[in-house]
Amino acid sequence: MFQLISQARIFSPKDTGVKDILIADEKIAAVEEPGKIKIEGLEVKKIDGSGLVVLPGFIDPHVHILGGGGEGGPATRAPEIRVEDCALAGVTTVIGCLGTDSITRHVSSLLAKARALEIEGLNAWIYAGAYNLPTPTITGSVRSDLVLIDKIIGAGEIALSDHRSSQPTYEEFLQLVAECRVGGMLGGKAGIAHFHLGDGNRGLDYLFRMIKETEIPATQVIPTHTSRNRTLFKQAMEWIKLGGFIDLTTGPEPQGAEELSVVEALNQIKAANLPLSRVTVSSDSNGSLPVFNEKGELIGLTVANQRDFLRTFQQIWREHILSRQEAIQVFSTNAAGFYKLSGKGKVETGFEADLLLINEAAELQYVFSRGKALIEKGQLKVKGTFSTIQ
Ligand SMILES: [Zn+2]
Repeated sequence: MFQLISQARIFSPKDTGVKDILIADEKIAAVEEPGKIKIEGLEVKKIDGSGLVVLPGFIDPHVHILGGGGEGGPATRAPEIRVEDCALAGVTTVIGCLGTDSITRHVSSLLAKARALEIEGLNAWIYAGAYNLPTPTITGSVRSDLVLIDKIIGAGEIALSDHRSSQPTYEEFLQLVAECRVGGMLGGKAGIAHFHLGDGNRGLDYLFRMIKETEIPATQVIPTHTSRNRTLFKQAMEWIKLGGFIDLTTGPEPQGAEELSVVEALNQIKAANLPLSRVTVSSDSNGSLPVFNEKGELIGLTVANQRDFLRTFQQIWREHILSRQEAIQVFSTNAAGFYKLSGKGKVETGFEADLLLINEAAELQYVFSRGKALIEKGQLKVKGTFSTIQ
């Protein structure tokens, strides 16, 4: 099936001006000057892109696709994500993770959920593991999961500096990263070790020690939730300076003065002249957002969602917090490169047709995932297998 998007302003993420895009089945077959693409004898669906901006679909590298939570007992296990939730947020690619609960949730069910999302129209990969070390896998080790299971591209989210972590020793931490590195090499994957950071004083200490004492490069790992308090964020800025990548978690507005919003964090990174090319953003969607008191007791619970992910992008876009190109890199292109998701994160010939068409107000008009329209003229088109949305 052919689709032709005409007269749209393209950010590839680079601003390449107004162009036409030909989609052939799941791929971008051509990006050309307006009017140049001519097709005869074949049916072509035409999409008027005038006045709209085209950018690569968002990549959300930390999603509890199976549901997270459970920290307040069985009734607090968060629900699974639906393909509609992702489409409505412009997210065309997710990387799924487990969380605190590695007893009633399993990497194999995470894999099944990723496959289901892909059948329903998304792109999905997963991490082996959960909060604890040693961490659960499908085949017995992170290394063999990376080599043998196509959808596993790293290990995560492994908890550090958090009262819910397994209090891993530095050696245990290092072994996990080494498993990721070698497994990634053998499996032709990025093999990223993705770390959940809590509010604990140890912060990123293990990561700093790793690059000081071992041969493992900073880019083998990424810490997330790095703007949850100011001390940790300071370390995160230092980590970028040393060549590392960090992930920021979108969410509701910060609770208290210690937490930085994604916008504030990005502003600080920019003001410090640090490369935004080493920053990704994720939603933590369908994880629970537990609220603890000073004693570490759970006093409340909400569920994270991807609406905050889109809302954050829209704010950055509308208020010009970053340049257009930088905003797209942070929400898509950087993650594609870091996690080695080939064919993702760019609007270029040969790349997969994961595309967003947005209007002036950064509202989603079209969402394409592998050439399939999940949203068309602002209306949700995709339906999950058990969808209740009419
Ligand atoms: Zn987390």
